[in-house]
Amino acid sequence: MPYRIGVLALQGDFKEHIQCLNQLKVYTEEIRTPEQVKKLDGLIIPGGESTTISKLIKIFNFEKVIYDHALEKKALWGTCAGMIILAKTLTEINPKPLGLLDIKVSRNWYGRQIDSFEKDINIVGLNKPFRAVFIRAPVIQKVGKNVRILGEENGYPIAVRSDNILATSFHPELTGDLRIHDMFVNMIDEKYIKK
Ligand code: GLN
Repeated sequence: MPYRIGVLALQGDFKEHIQCLNQLKVYTEEIRTPEQVKKLDGLIIPGGESTTISKLIKIFNFEKVIYDHALEKKALWGTCAGMIILAKTLTEINPKPLGLLDIKVSRNWYGRQIDSFEKDINIVGLNKPFRAVFIRAPVIQKVGKNVRILGEENGYPIAVRSDNILATSFHPELTGDLRIHDMFVNMIDEKYIKK
């Protein structure tokens, strides 16, 4: 497949995403410079520490290329800290999110690292539950009208999609189940089929 999917490699678990994408046989690269983003069909912002990733996005001038990527309707996916960064608003003061996805997010909803857990979640579009890994995970408090909820945990949305943007508060890159990565690749297909 000719698609080029990049994983922002400033901090966090980008290597695990790369491994998943390699298994799907798409062209994948670790993204360390804004120039690289311009050539991508899809971009993933991984889990990690959202204030750190956010600072690095600013320091290394990624803001504009990520905005442009989203505005060109190219596929964009944030997992956990990545979801926090894509959000329109947060219930916390830091970090300042990019505001690309119309959701309001609360960080560290389930408590500390020790309160991390796994749970089978029904995800719209998948025929069997997905084993979701929550690590100091955020939840979504509010979604805008163009945001589709794909999955919930205890009444809170934890997987959503709005047009070309996907967000999950858990870590699909850690389970060996490639179905959500596959869903992301299909989002790129949709863009080219629409054209
Ligand atoms: N709690 C982290 C944050 O707020 C996110 C955790 C994660 O990405 N696993 O940045």
